[in-house]
Amino acid sequence: MGAVLEGVRLAVIGGDDREIYLIPELQRQGANIIGLGLEKSPLGHSIEHASSFEEVMEKAHALLFPMFGTDERGLVKAKYSNSPIVLNKDVLESIPLGVPLFIGWARPALKAAAQNMDITLVEIVNRDDVAILNSIPSAEGSIQMAMEATNITIHGSQSYVIGLGRTGITLVNMLKGIGAKVTVVARKSADLARAVEMGVKAVSLTELETVISQAEIVFNTAPALVLDRNLLEKMSREAVIIDLASIPGGTDFEYAQMLGIKAQLAPGLPGIVAAKTAGKILAKIYPPIILEYVSPIGKGVR
Ligand code: NAP
Repeated sequence: MGAVLEGVRLAVIGGDDREIYLIPELQRQGANIIGLGLEKSPLGHSIEHASSFEEVMEKAHALLFPMFGTDERGLVKAKYSNSPIVLNKDVLESIPLGVPLFIGWARPALKAAAQNMDITLVEIVNRDDVAILNSIPSAEGSIQMAMEATNITIHGSQSYVIGLGRTGITLVNMLKGIGAKVTVVARKSADLARAVEMGVKAVSLTELETVISQAEIVFNTAPALVLDRNLLEKMSREAVIIDLASIPGGTDFEYAQMLGIKAQLAPGLPGIVAAKTAGKILAKIYPPIILEYVSPIGKGVR
């Protein structure tokens, strides 16, 4: 890709190892990077470091926040920052008109505040391209967790995958490839039909209780409480649950622990197990999205 971001001054605020791979790619595409909360990163002097949001707002054409976004108090995940970075009302009010804010996952309160203040907030985590590409490291990472948590091989295991969305499909394909005996659990008849086409067993969510005792590994991708007390009670105490759904996951973890079933919530896998790949995915996805909102000479197009 050429220097499509030539002239664009992009503030990268916080983040984790993904940004360490994302930033050089964005620079290769011509972007000028201003970092906030990256002073301890290995990027050193290859980027300009801002010391405050005030400085960022003076210089940047667009703001890029991490995939994880913020916590409920507005704290931005910033692995390489010397001090906490908080995205609060004052910061939002200081964003100049026309400067878009890109973020992985935006909390509802942040979305509402941005809307009230007429800030262009672009949430990317639910875009199909991002979700499908991210499903690769997520699926790999969840299989790695399952390998570590079990004393059996994935090959030949009774592996159940709940939800056949973007992550579920990738996971099923990978599990099949390793030789697992895969069962897809879904609530839509179209998804159950797709599972049959994929050559795996298909079970509707309502029937799951009749077969779940056979499961050795259960991967959940449905963002709702599906693995409730009733289902957990029917599971083998030796089964392992890897829950990929966004926090708080889809498992009654407390009850699983009480029963002695190993259940692990696995948030943010791409950044943990494959930061380089995840950073490169973002580097592929972001430039065209940024250019939708920022003109090549760096002026906001809002
Ligand atoms: P997706 O494409 O929307 O798929 C979600 C699947 O869950 C669909 O099959 C959906 O079925 C099913 N589902 C949703 N609500 C359900 C319910 N109440 N009962 C039963 N099934 C339900 O989402 P995705 O991109 O695969 O992501 C799945 C989850 O993983 C999300 O929570 C996402 O944030 C998370 N995620 C985590 C990681 C990680 O690192 N752990 C990485 C990527 C994504 P219907 O079509 O019937 O609704």
